[in-house]
Amino acid sequence: MTERTNLLGLDLQGLEAFFVELGEKPFRARQLLQWIHKYRVTDFAEMTNLSKVLREKLQQVSEVRVPEVLQEHVSRDGTRKWIIKMDGGNAIEAVFIPEGGRGTLCVSSQVGCALTCTFCSTGQQGFNRNLDAAEIVAQLWIANEALGKDPKGNRVVTNVVMMGMGEPLANYNNVVTAMNLMRDDFGYGISWRRLTLSTSGMVPMIDKLREDCHVSLAISLHAANDKLRDEIIPLNQKYPIADLLAACKRYVAGDQKRRHITVEYVMLDGINDALEDARDLDRLLKDLPTKINLIPFNPFPGTDYKCSSRKQIERFKQYLIDKGQVVTVRKTRGDDIVAACGQLAGEVQDKSRRAERLAKQREVVFHQ
Ligand code: SAH
Ligand code: SF4
Repeated sequence: MTERTNLLGLDLQGLEAFFVELGEKPFRARQLLQWIHKYRVTDFAEMTNLSKVLREKLQQVSEVRVPEVLQEHVSRDGTRKWIIKMDGGNAIEAVFIPEGGRGTLCVSSQVGCALTCTFCSTGQQGFNRNLDAAEIVAQLWIANEALGKDPKGNRVVTNVVMMGMGEPLANYNNVVTAMNLMRDDFGYGISWRRLTLSTSGMVPMIDKLREDCHVSLAISLHAANDKLRDEIIPLNQKYPIADLLAACKRYVAGDQKRRHITVEYVMLDGINDALEDARDLDRLLKDLPTKINLIPFNPFPGTDYKCSSRKQIERFKQYLIDKGQVVTVRKTRGDDIVAACGQLAGEVQDKSRRAERLAKQREVVFHQ
């Protein structure tokens, strides 16, 4: 039997093409989007505005398959983490962070990550595979299913950040399809302002994204000079800071009123947190509309990095504010359930055997 198409991962365009191929009218796509994403109905028999014949046809060739939730953890600060089973013995994580009037879901795009940022737990674990569009959007589906609506009838998940496991721009097509579904009014209706993609700096894909899918952009800068950035984000050796910032400028070009870039900067004690770094950072960002988000480093087993002291983070922040930068410090949320930035680990069957190699390297260093 040929595999049935999982309709969960088709955006409007994909569903329209699917229906045309079935000999149906393309407007059916909108009905399906609403059933699947708005009402979260997975059984075609319940889709009552479709004819019985069509429902049976759909049943034969397609399905709405949502991955299984293995575990749900609730933090004392209200943060929730779902560990979701993926084919091939893997699991990924999605995290919901409530704050004031909004609720942000942090979505994963890959099982593990093929990049090797030294301060990131996901990066140290190795890489297995890309998630498909269904597996990406399923994280929002699952969060909505668990959290539903508030007493006023509004969805509890108001914002999405592509900041979970993986580098979203390294899984470009699937991430764009999933984000189309998140943005579509017949899907989740999340405006581009509330949908943010974070990248460690895949320059060519930033340009492509500007053309294909209008979302807010965040970059993981984390260092104000190439020497350090080469070390902690090896991708910088391919796309150095100047190239990355030039791509950011192109991303916001012609749209100054509406767009800014979020610059993420993880605070690593004694590594990138001196006032000279703040000075260099300010200089780098002089003519780019940005908001700087300082992220206290979240430790994970096996790391030698430490988070900068609270006092140093405050000094770093104040220096930048005095220079006229807009700066926030990210609150660490959900650390009691290991759900904070860079702590997401899931269950990665590492195909690159990186974790093993790194453990060996560590042993060698230790014995020297
Ligand atoms: N791959 C993408 C998105 C996922 S990581 C990227 O790198 O941008 C989301 C954010 O968490 C990034 O800014 C990342 O650099 C940061 N991060 C990674 N490890 C961290 C850690 N241990 N503590 C704090 N932030 C971390
Ligand atoms: Fe991958 Fe982002 Fe982690 Fe770097 S910080 S290893 S790009 S997930």
